[in-house]
Amino acid sequence: MDPKRWRLDGQLALVTGGSAGIGRAIARELLGFGANVLLAARDSAGLDTARAELLEDFPEREVECFAADVGDDEQRRELLDWVEDLGDGSLHILVNNAGTNTSKPTTDYGDEEWRQIFETNLFSAFELSRYLHPLLTRHAASSIVNVGSVSGLTHVRTGAPYGMSKAAMHQMTRNLAVEWAEDGVRVNAVAPWYIRTRRTSSKLANPDYLDDVLLRTPMGRVGEPEEVAAAVAFLCLPAAGYITGECIAVDGGFLRYGF
Ligand code: NDP
Repeated sequence: MDPKRWRLDGQLALVTGGSAGIGRAIARELLGFGANVLLAARDSAGLDTARAELLEDFPEREVECFAADVGDDEQRRELLDWVEDLGDGSLHILVNNAGTNTSKPTTDYGDEEWRQIFETNLFSAFELSRYLHPLLTRHAASSIVNVGSVSGLTHVRTGAPYGMSKAAMHQMTRNLAVEWAEDGVRVNAVAPWYIRTRRTSSKLANPDYLDDVLLRTPMGRVGEPEEVAAAVAFLCLPAAGYITGECIAVDGGFLRYGF
């Protein structure tokens, strides 16, 4: 076994939504495998806190932050300029993780409201992927991982726009994987079911709702951010070098549970 196949030493990764929840766990996991990380999120105080915590555990690595709303076209471009201007202007890993949702009946969404879900969850991932393609292709092998959702594969109680945005993200993963295979860019996705983060904490705090969730989950528990992060990191490793266009469900068996 070549241990280098299970390392990311010297690689640079951009994680959107990297200041909290699943994104911060992904950053931590990538640092653990030897990568340096760039974090993007809207709130700079949250980024500073995350950076300080990560550097406390990995003082020998580099963690840099940029405050930007990836759902805003202008701020996305500022983020891209920042990444381009850093170091040697190359990137090994892009994790499109930032996401948002408002859950309501379809006819209740305002135009701006449902469009913003697409901007943040889907268009950001498409724009960052294609604009960072020249940086990713400076290396023989690089990787994109999209944080999708089980809601992009079946109905869950998220509201339609969120499920639609995640379904499109899964299809984008397949399209880019095929198109960019010849460029050495692997493109994969993960599809989490309920993961314990600040996004889900209020819903999971409702005992009746939690019971409903657990009844639909063969493993009988919700997931932890670290469990999604492990799947993301695996997909980035050289060991996963022949895997592209795939989606790994991190769902305690949710998607396989019929009756
Ligand atoms: P959290 O709310 O815990 O963290 C979200 C992170 O994204 C924060 O760093 C937040 O920082 C950042 N963020 C949110 N909106 C934007 C934006 N517009 N621009 C830049 N950064 C942003 O969420 P989770 O960790 O739970 O979710 C992460 C991803 O996982 C999302 O794509 C979500 O759809 C997906 N997912 C989560 C599941 C779950 O059960 N938790 C299940 C399935 C999928 P800030 O607020 O400062 O911008």
